[in-house]
Amino acid sequence: MENSVLDCVIIGSGPAGYTAAIYASRADLKPVLYTGMELGGQLTTTTEVENFPGYPDGITGPEMMEDLKKQAERFGTKVIIDYITKVELSKEKGGIHKVYTSSEEIHAKTVIISTGASAKYLGLECEKKYQGGGVSACATCDGFFYKNKPVVVVGGGDTAAEEATYLAKLCSKVTMLVRKGEFRASKAMINRVENTPNIEVLFFHELKEIEGDGVVETVIAYDNRTNEETKITADGIFIAIGHKPNTDLFLGQLDADESGYLITEKGTSKTNIPGVFAAGDVQDKHYRQAITAAGSGCMAALDAERYLASLED
Ligand code: NDP
Repeated sequence: MENSVLDCVIIGSGPAGYTAAIYASRADLKPVLYTGMELGGQLTTTTEVENFPGYPDGITGPEMMEDLKKQAERFGTKVIIDYITKVELSKEKGGIHKVYTSSEEIHAKTVIISTGASAKYLGLECEKKYQGGGVSACATCDGFFYKNKPVVVVGGGDTAAEEATYLAKLCSKVTMLVRKGEFRASKAMINRVENTPNIEVLFFHELKEIEGDGVVETVIAYDNRTNEETKITADGIFIAIGHKPNTDLFLGQLDADESGYLITEKGTSKTNIPGVFAAGDVQDKHYRQAITAAGSGCMAALDAERYLASLED
């Protein structure tokens, strides 16, 4: 592939990347998609996806990603299981962008970045043990499974406050573990939490252990001032301590906000570099849904197509 110039290279294999690939390949841009390490992205770590339109009976995350991959390949997308290690983006309109794997140098007129974001976890052994058995990092994805059941939310920022208020509508009780004596969330979100009767907030509390027979049954929290332990009966625990966009590769070349999310021109997928587009969670810290990621992947492919056409004018 070295020395030939692709019309479009796509980095990342979540719903944004595959949707961009479907549109780009149908527009004959012959895209090449590099999957990254986590094939299929964050959805492959969820079990059932029930909120993606078109699947009345739901579908598992991995199955949905496999379908998206097949759909992209059907129109000629070349899917390569490899990881991009470096990029050199040209600032000139019409310039050639270079992206590298550990063994390959790829040249392309357009680059669609859909590397996603990763939920942060606390790094405790128990989180891994009960992953898929009651530990989640996405209330919109998994909250439904805890209807009328008690759950715990860890975190004190806007994400945690939003997850807690969302879950409070479905679940019998939500206990929030906030490690400091105050929230980090915005005033409006704090008000919402405080005005929700079935949310109990335990300040100065952190997660210590999870117990249960294969699934979460009891959450053990501790007061970080006294080390006193509290046992909380819960069927689920949501870790909501933030996300990290997967943008390390691009920082310094593309504009990003203070948390590292790529900045796109309002209403488009355009980054500050001509021919480089961003789609999905890598540029969206607010919605973070498969369907919104897919929608922005479509936008990126259309923007790439129009950009290529403008080079011929
Ligand atoms: P934040 O970084 O704002 O908050 C993270 C929270 O998790 C903090 O309370 C932090 O505690 C806590 N935390 C971090 N690490 C640990 C740990 N190891 N153990 C226990 N607690 C921990 O992340 P968010 O995802 O909440 O928000 C990210 C950005 O996205 C913000 O700018 C936010 O405003 C925005 N956002 C906006 C929304 C909206 O407007 N509706 C919705 C969601 C996000 P501590 O305070 O002690 O550091």
